[in-house]
Amino acid sequence: MNTFDLTGKVAIVTGSNTGLGAGMASALATAGCDIVGVSRADAGATPMYVKAAGRRFADVRADLASIAPVDDIVRAAVEAFGRVDVLVNNAGIIRREDAFDFSEDDWDAVMDVNLKSLFFLSQAVARQFVKQQSGGKIINVASMLSFQGGLRVASYTASKSGVLGLTRLLANEWAGHGINVNAIAPGYMATANTAALRGDTQRNEEILSRIPAGRWGTPEDLAGPVVFLASSASDYVHGHTLAVDGGWLAR
Ligand code: NAP
Repeated sequence: MNTFDLTGKVAIVTGSNTGLGAGMASALATAGCDIVGVSRADAGATPMYVKAAGRRFADVRADLASIAPVDDIVRAAVEAFGRVDVLVNNAGIIRREDAFDFSEDDWDAVMDVNLKSLFFLSQAVARQFVKQQSGGKIINVASMLSFQGGLRVASYTASKSGVLGLTRLLANEWAGHGINVNAIAPGYMATANTAALRGDTQRNEEILSRIPAGRWGTPEDLAGPVVFLASSASDYVHGHTLAVDGGWLAR
């Protein structure tokens, strides 16, 4: 099935140091990509996974709390590997508080990383795709809260619902340039992001009992979907948000 082969492609993955970002970077490397890993403080074990797959890793440090670094990220990728083919907008944060008490800081912090930086990094990468006359693939990380309301996570729900909408808008505007914009909506995945939920016995049982697959997802569960959306196998897929949720939304 060589339509899934990514040999010679270059992928930027934000938040590549841990969790789902590390899993997707490893999967893309295994399928053939060189990886430009964007992390805030430390690249984690991801360079080791990428090199073990026989691919190159460029270590880029950037804080996506502001859009200041977006052009530098693209420049660093082009300097390292000469081009960009795939962008995975994975970096994200969550803040929990009752809507009555939700602060402006908790609103802005989440919207800035999850939505604003995602948009402006997509814009910078899409301009590079056009400059290369190559087309390209943008994969956003959405959430169950792109489809559902949730509780006590106002800015997260707003941002992830926004990610679903922006995925459609950007797909519409850029499909004509050979750019595919799609999203993956992970269900409940076992990462640092959900450690508190998994540590709460009652919440853990409530969540597990509602997942038809009967288990938390893992970063490895995103491997097939991210390779599909990064590869020519998905060339006619535009503006879709693919739930990878063990059946949560079907319930
Ligand atoms: P995670 O382990 O907390 O990882 C989040 C990643 O985003 C980390 O690499 C983190 O860097 C990075 N990040 C956060 N703020 C950043 C900033 N200002 N600048 C640059 N990088 C920043 O969580 P995860 O579960 O892997 O989440 C990855 C994505 O999946 C997020 O968008 C999340 O909303 C989404 N998601 C997760 C789940 C789930 O169940 N786990 C479900 C649905 C969607 P640091 O390590 O430096 O903090």
